Order: sequence, then structure tokens, then C-alpha cells
Amino acid sequence: MSNKKYILFIENGSEMQEMHLNWKHFISIFIVIFVLLSISVFGVSKIFSKFQYQKKIAKAYKENDNLELSLNLMQKKVSELNKKINNIKEKDKAIRLYSNLPENDINIDELGTGGRVNRKLFVGNENSQKATKLVNVDKSLTRISKELQSALISYENLTEILKRKKQKLDATPTIAPLKNNAYISSSYGKRVDPFTGRIGMHDGIDFATRSGNSIYATADGKVKYAKYIGGYGYTVKIINGFGYSTIFGHMSKMKVKKGQSVKRGDLIGYVGNTGRSTGPHLHYEIRYKSQSVNPIKYMWIRKKL
Ligand SMILES: [Zn+2]
Repeated sequence: MSNKKYILFIENGSEMQEMHLNWKHFISIFIVIFVLLSISVFGVSKIFSKFQYQKKIAKAYKENDNLELSLNLMQKKVSELNKKINNIKEKDKAIRLYSNLPENDINIDELGTGGRVNRKLFVGNENSQKATKLVNVDKSLTRISKELQSALISYENLTEILKRKKQKLDATPTIAPLKNNAYISSSYGKRVDPFTGRIGMHDGIDFATRSGNSIYATADGKVKYAKYIGGYGYTVKIINGFGYSTIFGHMSKMKVKKGQSVKRGDLIGYVGNTGRSTGPHLHYEIRYKSQSVNPIKYMWIRKKL
């Protein structure tokens, strides 16, 4: 270490003072300055962080206010959704009532739910007004979600029922097999057989009309056979489904083949006099679950005859 000495002159009024400084003095001065500087930097940073903290608190308050406003808005929307859901439920009831179907009996409590908002999230504020509000909004949303799920199941169920009803209606004979210029020459039921003279069962209706007049399928179905059968002559049998089948006898000509699908109103053949027949006519028979039924009850659209 150098032993150099420095002399510092200090002017004090008219006097001059001398200070003799060595390296130890310089180190002490440096330490003092360093300590003073450190203290002031620490103080300034303290003040700055306090300012930052206050800024953060103000921001949090603002955010909190915005969140509360959003929560109130959500509450409003939830109550509007509730109204709409009730409207859907009323409509579902009405559709079922008009279609003579049982009411929707889905128990929404048995439907699954997602996660739930927990009060424990509000540490130290579990029973605050905001916590209660949020939990209630969540409860309502869960219920609405279940109600919607129930409505969806109900509509799928309704679609299935109506589809089935439509299929059944398509398979049910509803029209006369001839368009016009025909009259019923022999009704369904017991009658005197024109060939034997004995009382016997007539399993269908006879329509007397001009030979060659068109004969139409009275319901959708599939041709079981189109062939010559003893007393029936040229005969077409259609399996309509849902227990129904239809038979058309004494045709002069058949226009369909075995296995062919037909729709109600499709041309299937022409009136003739084949088989055991006393004149041109159509023998029309309907069977329901293999038993013959009175075709007159299945001609809902009478004007077609
Ligand atoms: Zn007959």
C-alpha cells in the first residue's frame, strides 16, 4: 500500500485549514458514501413497489366491478333462457297432446352433469353475495343444460314415433283399388255362393267394372306373388307390412312381378274375368294378421272409387 499523503485545504472565512488525508481516510469516505447510496436506493425501491401495489389493487377492484357486472348480465340471460326452455316444454306437451302420445317422462335428475362451481373457490368469502350469485347462475345453467338434453331426447323419440306412424299409415290400405266406373256387386261376409248355391263366406269385395280397367295398389308393400291361382285366376298378393296384406283376383293382365316394391296408387294390373268368375270384376281382399277383414272399412278416400 502506498504511503502517499494528500493535503486538503479548506477555506473557512479568512482562515485556511489543512487536512492531511491518507488511503485509510479515502476508504472510510468511500464506505460512508456506499452505505448512504444503498440506503437511498432501498428507500426509493420501497416507495416504488408500494406505488405498484396500489396500482395493482386499483386494477383488481376495477376487474372485480367488471366481473360483477358480467355476472349480473349472465343472471339476466339465464332467466331469459329459462323462459325459452319453458316455452319448448309447453310446445312438446302440445305436440304430444295433439298426436295422442304420452307426456315426456324423462327424469332430468337422472341426466349427467359437468363440473360444478364450488363456493370453496371464494377462499374466506364462501358466503358472500357474489359467491351465492355465481353458484346460483351455475345451478340454473346446469338445469337448463339438462332440460335441453331432455327436450332433445323427447324430439328424437317423437320423430321415431311419427316415422313409425307414417310407415304404419303407408302400409294400411286406405283407398279403393279402382278409380271409377265400378260398383260393388258383392259385399264382404256371408252370401249365397253363385257357383254352389250354398251359403259361404265371401272374404273380400267384388267390384263389377269393364274388363281392362286399371287396378291400383291400395297401400305400399312388396308383391308376394303375381300368378294364376285356381278359382282366383290371375292374382296379385301384396304384403303391406304391420300385419296387412292385400289380394287382387280375376285380373286379365298383371303389371307387377314377385318381389317388386309398390307404392299406394301404383298400377298393378287390369280387371278381367279369369278363374271362377261369372263376369269381368275385381275380387279385392284385405287380410290383417292372416284374417280377412271388410275392405269397405279401409276405403277412407271414397271419391277415388
Ligand atoms: Zn269375390
